[in-house]
Amino acid sequence: SPGLYIVATPIGNLGDLSPRAAEVLAHADLIAAEDTRVTATLLRHIGAKRPMQPYHDHNADQVRPGLIARLASEVIALVSDAGTPLISDPGYKLVRDARAAGHQVVTIPGPCAAIAALTLAGLPTDRFLFMGFLPAKQGARGSAIAEVAGVRATLIFYESGPRLAATLAALAEGLGDREAAVTREITKKFEEAVTGTLSSLAARYADAPPKGEIVIVVAPPGAAPPPSAEDAEAALVEALSRLP
Ligand code: SAM
Repeated sequence: SPGLYIVATPIGNLGDLSPRAAEVLAHADLIAAEDTRVTATLLRHIGAKRPMQPYHDHNADQVRPGLIARLASEVIALVSDAGTPLISDPGYKLVRDARAAGHQVVTIPGPCAAIAALTLAGLPTDRFLFMGFLPAKQGARGSAIAEVAGVRATLIFYESGPRLAATLAALAEGLGDREAAVTREITKKFEEAVTGTLSSLAARYADAPPKGEIVIVVAPPGAAPPPSAEDAEAALVEALSRLP
């Protein structure tokens, strides 16, 4: 039925496109896409061809009213290049205006790099704060980090390879040298998660900026580093030796 469908798409592995997402994309009257070339590739993968309309930061204000007007009678699917729309991607104003105009809004949930990274990091998951991309300028970046230094939650940041080492160093300075994970190329061929302290990770990447897409996950303040299996065994042996 007519309305705005928020459709999550794969972050690397096309096998992660859900059957429901494929169904909506194959039948939408219009697909509002961040980059229509990227979405055209996805549509080819599912053997579909649908009308598309670019919807990105630079034209969103102009095209939004037209999209809202069509929602009364049409199915419009919103997709971004990868992952969940609205998450460090355009879309929330479209949802806001669709609701305000009384149209149906439906979500087709699926891949999201932030959540996928959190599941790989081995850090507490009971509370987390998604920070998106830190500001590029040093001063603004420092303030953004200082603002969350006291937050008792695991922190999640999106980052690019060339900036990774500088960001890790800034995080170590602003948050203290916490445990962290650098996750890269999730669901792709070279997926990896490297764990360590922020300073050790900064040193590791300083001379070797990694390729690909990256999420940084940082432990909450004061969290003890996760005990290794060897630590646990040594503690057990020690405790047993003290039994009468
Ligand atoms: N909306 C997307 C989502 O749901 O994850 C995020 C869009 S944001 C513009 C793009 C950033 O997400 C990348 O710079 C990277 O930090 C992260 N990202 C996307 N795909 C990724 C992947 N396969 N592995 C690691 N990080 C990824």
